[in-house]
Amino acid sequence: MSPLPSEVIASRLESIRAGLPSSARLVAVSKFHPADYVVKAYEAGQRLFGESRVQELVAKWESLHEAYPDIVWHFIGPLQTNKVKYIAPFISMIESVTSERLLREICRQAQRVERTIPILLELHVAQEETKSGFTRSELLELLGAIHAAPEEWRGIELRGLMAMASNVADEQQVEREFAEVRATFDAIRSSDLLLQPESFTELSMGMSGDYQIALSQGSTLVRIGSAIFGERL
Ligand SMILES: *Cc1c(COP(=O)(O)O)cnc(C)c1O
Repeated sequence: MSPLPSEVIASRLESIRAGLPSSARLVAVSKFHPADYVVKAYEAGQRLFGESRVQELVAKWESLHEAYPDIVWHFIGPLQTNKVKYIAPFISMIESVTSERLLREICRQAQRVERTIPILLELHVAQEETKSGFTRSELLELLGAIHAAPEEWRGIELRGLMAMASNVADEQQVEREFAEVRATFDAIRSSDLLLQPESFTELSMGMSGDYQIALSQGSTLVRIGSAIFGERL
């Protein structure tokens, strides 16, 4: 496959961004694509990027951070607890927090590098068993535990929820799933479970195939890869 020209990446970014409401931001998902695709997107004005593998993200960060210090990286994939330490020094947000154990390790590593790491809690709504995340009741239980003992959870800032819908053609099902995430988000925001409700503002939903539906349900972060960079190898 020949590399995508800068103009193609720039025009795809432009048309996606033109269709976003001012309440939503684009996370350009550069996973499995080379660092020079990130640079092409950067030159077209993109600053926020998403990666889903620790090793790949660290390699890109190492090759780019000096020349492009204002690139903002979100981690969006499955994260093993023993790998948090590699991204803790520089990650701007970990969107894919799927367990209490992982969250504790993020706290530990954030304290070690004297940072506060913004995080999203991933809610499981899809039908597929392969998609991970908390159930709604697990999520409420965890928020209750954090609320009850905030001193045990230093190093993180709870910024909102992330979710993936089922990978199905049935748009109504996808819409129902995103609506369920939105309802949980609203319920949390209007509860007394948050110590800093003003920070809990992000709803990360929507990928190349379903972000329009996610936007209709109030997404504030759309994570788009293939519609910008093409199919992954
Ligand atoms: C790969 C990935 C995306 C982007 O998917 P596309 O269909 O290429 O837009 C979004 N979110 C997560 C969690 C991903 O792993």
